Amino acid sequence: MSKGISAPRRSVVRHLKAVRKKLVPFLHTVSNLPRWVYALGGFSLSLPLFLATASAPPPAPVVPPTQVKPSSPPPPAKPDTLFGHYAYEEAPASDLVTIAVAADSYALKLRTAAAQSFTRMQRDARADGINLVPLSGYRSKAEQEHLFFTIGQERNQTPAERAKVSAPPGYSEHHTGYAIDIGDGDNPSTDLAETFAQTAAYAWLRQNAARYGFELSFPPNNPQGVMYEPWHWRFVGDTDSLKTFYKVRNRS
Ligand SMILES: [Zn+2]
Repeated sequence: MSKGISAPRRSVVRHLKAVRKKLVPFLHTVSNLPRWVYALGGFSLSLPLFLATASAPPPAPVVPPTQVKPSSPPPPAKPDTLFGHYAYEEAPASDLVTIAVAADSYALKLRTAAAQSFTRMQRDARADGINLVPLSGYRSKAEQEHLFFTIGQERNQTPAERAKVSAPPGYSEHHTGYAIDIGDGDNPSTDLAETFAQTAAYAWLRQNAARYGFELSFPPNNPQGVMYEPWHWRFVGDTDSLKTFYKVRNRS
């Protein structure tokens, strides 16, 4: 170990001495400068500062940190759909009335208001020489299940393919008791077929059904993407039926 100042410390001292040597003449010169030089220096230093302050943008408005953005209302619920079909409840059994009995004694039913209107329409059509035949009315979800799955599988249709021609259970307008499939009694070969659109019965319906509160549910290129069904009509002639079919859509 060396005596006195250590090597690094010695080098620092040397450095300080050298700095002082250079600084003393400079300080001496500065102390001899005329006063106007100091004034000029002070002005040149404060000018950029003044300009910077003058051109500075106005202070941003202060937002209280506790202010919370009002929460927007939740988005409206999307309607319950499956393959483009809307969900429907089954009609109350107490409001279902029989409009016709099939050969296998299956009773065709509609809700009271729709049944009365259909019967009147059928009678008036007959007076015009048109034979409107009800083919299908109210259907329970269990019946629709058979129609959708069993028939679909028999025909080698995937659910997506089947849904183009028949609604999945829980999603059929027939559950409401307001929908009816209509055939032309004089052209039974067109029953539930697109060729029904060429019958006199169809032409008569297009001309008159609205007078009785009936409308076509699935016209060509309908927004639901369901196949054109000229035989499938729905009753929208009172408040309950209208709400059944249109209120659900307003939620979309
Ligand atoms: Zn139908």
